[in-house]
Amino acid sequence: MRLEVNNQGKFAYNILLEKDFSLLKGTLDELSDEKTKICIVTDTNVKRLYCEEVLGIFEGRKVFSFVFEAGEESKNLDTVRKLYKFLIENEFDRKDILLALGGGVVGDLCGYAAATYLRGIDFIQIPTTLLAQVDSSIGGKTGVDFEGYKNMVGAFYLPKAVYINLSTLKTLSEREYSSGMAELIKHGLIKDKTYYEDIISNKEKIKNRDLQIMEEMVYRSDLIKKGVVERDFKENGERVLLNFGHTLGHAIEKYFKFELSHGASVALGMLCAADISVERNMLFPEEYEKLKKLLSFFGLPVNLRIEDKDEVLKFTRNDKKVESGSLKFILLDGIGKAVIDRSVSSEDMKKALRSIKVE
Ligand code: NAD
Repeated sequence: MRLEVNNQGKFAYNILLEKDFSLLKGTLDELSDEKTKICIVTDTNVKRLYCEEVLGIFEGRKVFSFVFEAGEESKNLDTVRKLYKFLIENEFDRKDILLALGGGVVGDLCGYAAATYLRGIDFIQIPTTLLAQVDSSIGGKTGVDFEGYKNMVGAFYLPKAVYINLSTLKTLSEREYSSGMAELIKHGLIKDKTYYEDIISNKEKIKNRDLQIMEEMVYRSDLIKKGVVERDFKENGERVLLNFGHTLGHAIEKYFKFELSHGASVALGMLCAADISVERNMLFPEEYEKLKKLLSFFGLPVNLRIEDKDEVLKFTRNDKKVESGSLKFILLDGIGKAVIDRSVSSEDMKKALRSIKVE
């Protein structure tokens, strides 16, 4: 399956959904000639699982690989510096290409290095986590963390292609798979009720990582994300809706010092936002309960013991969705329709945090 992504009304790149890596060589051949040097950028876990196979595909071409320690802790300028050095030492120039083989950490970091090395060289996203396949590889946000601040340094920079091999989902841990599920569910909640209901009716197959159904689900999720990004690339309006569940989700993530997965925190944040939507008669209580059941089915937390709610709220204050002092909170005006709301108060959020308390 293939999806075309446009930028400012013009074709920008394709998202390819495949069940193996067999078309990767053809994809690259379309973008470059055999003299082009390739650098596979990956982390230690993905190297062990997929690097050899991908290297094998490019036999006969000049291929290099740059591997860094897996984990968010590596997503920083120091790793970028090492990558620049590696590229300089191997004489990479602007005609050459980087392949980001891995999850969101690899994609964000490699994308940022591609955006800045020699003022920009080509790169391809090869996302291997569910989160990266439905979220981080699409939309052109690249970047790294800086001095403890997440995604503080970055650039909007588009890949030349996104190549998704759905089979890579099979080796993901339960934690990473369910983390990606939170974003997939989010896309249905904010934009497409039918998609959300289809997730519910296919939940067993999705949980079993049935590739046929996952091809359809990832495709539809990407369709939603690419639509939003095409209409609002630089997050001046509609793109902020993708942050549904993220205001309190990020705050919970920080409060628990990143011990919860990103998806787990977002799941709890989505429940809080859904609770506020119910309070405002925008969402039926039964829909809230249905969401809770769905998240729980995918192994995402729906309850949490939070001792100090004020501390969680403090973390929402430096949220990037704060504009001139007022928080752009995303609520649901029914399933499939997210809206921006500027009137959600600290008290509303505190009440919502109480709704996810451990009984
Ligand atoms: P990640 O890249 O750290 O991957 C999670 C773990 O899974 C890592 O240990 C990795 O080595 C491992 N892994 C990757 N693919 C695997 C596979 N197929 N089988 C087994 N293990 C595999 O994390 P992530 O959840 O993919 O991405 C999170 C990052 O994405 C964060 O840094 C976040 O800021 C960023 N992000 C960016 C955007 C964006 O728009 N650019 C959007 C959302 C999130």
